[in-house]
Amino acid sequence: MDDRVDAVVIGAGVVGLACAYELCRRLETVVVLERDVGPGREISSRNSGVVHAGIYYPKDSLKTELCIEGKKLLYDWCEAHDVPHQRTGKLIVATSAEDETRLRRIARHAAEVGAGALRMLSRAEARELEPEVRCELALHSPTSGVVDVHELIASFAREVKEADGAIVYQTHLESIERIAGGWLVRTSDTMGRQAELQTARVVNAAGLSAIEVARRSGLAEHEIPWRLYPCKGSYFALGAGAPPTRNSLIYPLPEGGGLGVHITADISGARRAGPDAEFVDTIDYTVDESRIERFAEAVGRYLPAIRPEHLTPDYSGIRPKLVGPEGGFADFVLSNPSTQPGVAHLVGIESPGLTASLAIGARVSDMIG
Ligand SMILES: Cc1cc2nc3c(=O)[nH]c(=O)nc-3n(C[C@H](O)[C@H](O)[C@H](O)COP(=O)(O)OP(=O)(O)OC[C@H]3O[C@@H](n4cnc5c(N)ncnc54)[C@H](O)[C@@H]3O)c2cc1C
Repeated sequence: MDDRVDAVVIGAGVVGLACAYELCRRLETVVVLERDVGPGREISSRNSGVVHAGIYYPKDSLKTELCIEGKKLLYDWCEAHDVPHQRTGKLIVATSAEDETRLRRIARHAAEVGAGALRMLSRAEARELEPEVRCELALHSPTSGVVDVHELIASFAREVKEADGAIVYQTHLESIERIAGGWLVRTSDTMGRQAELQTARVVNAAGLSAIEVARRSGLAEHEIPWRLYPCKGSYFALGAGAPPTRNSLIYPLPEGGGLGVHITADISGARRAGPDAEFVDTIDYTVDESRIERFAEAVGRYLPAIRPEHLTPDYSGIRPKLVGPEGGFADFVLSNPSTQPGVAHLVGIESPGLTASLAIGARVSDMIG
């Protein structure tokens, strides 16, 4: 590593890599620091892999704006870099009268914010699309889709390197200290060896550790108004004998801090149900098998032929939520504190952060590039 660079990005998840890629287009020397042995091993590879349309989030929020912008950038990226993806379309299903009212409200809102083409389907029309699904009403979003997240992460990492950026693995950010003309970034590797980098710009894209990294940058406690509430989402695979579904992603209405236990089929066609939403104190990715009954019940509301024996524990991911179980909306935080010129802290980048990643990268580069 040169010890003087134009920008340092902490975290090689999709967001850090997208920021690094954009910065590489504008600057000479960009270094990504990642504590793990490879890219995207935390939130970025533990999600639904869905390219969202931007249906649910408030107007004028970063989540809406960057999701809609990011969806287009992401599909274009996948086409340009041969990343497997599919515009499968998505169905949001209402299974009760109360759901119907909420779904109509969601549809009006989505049209207002410009979340792509949408069509309300009657019960019969929805059944034609998905014969095993039971609902009163459904909203079809044809621009939603799925992406192979592992291939996407690999393509981001490859393109950062192609653009002369460096990604340094097994390297932990220790501290960021203000020096004349910029920042001194201290790191340690797995052997305990320390190193230092001088830079004009720092991006904190540390996902679940973003607040810890903000503290290590010397921000005072009153300058860190955020708190993270890790929220685990588990997935169960749909095995042989599970009722068939076609190509669509099938979602209930959002509930309990998540988008509801939905069914996705990845690029290989493997189907899974999830994620649920469980606020946790520790990072533990074990999937609790005893949740099978609850999953079968949640999915059974719209796919009545599902049985617990069709489900097997698959994987889990943990959302870096900025609100606790009491809920409420929290937007993405892209913060460039006035006391820290050239530094951006990206906090609370939960869903739709995968979809929005390239748009976040462009926005952050505009902030500090
Ligand atoms: C269950 C679940 C489902 C989701 N589904 C979707 C979906 O379908 N569609 C969608 O658009 N979004 C989805 N998301 C959101 C999306 O996955 C995230 O917004 C996105 O992956 C966040 O990426 P990131 O780069 O910010 O975080 P991460 O991928 O976690 O990257 C942060 C990186 O920083 C590194 N790091 C942390 N601290 C340090 C340090 N001190 N030194 C060095 N490195 C450090 C970590 O090792 C990690 O690799 C989902 C999220 C979850 C949890």
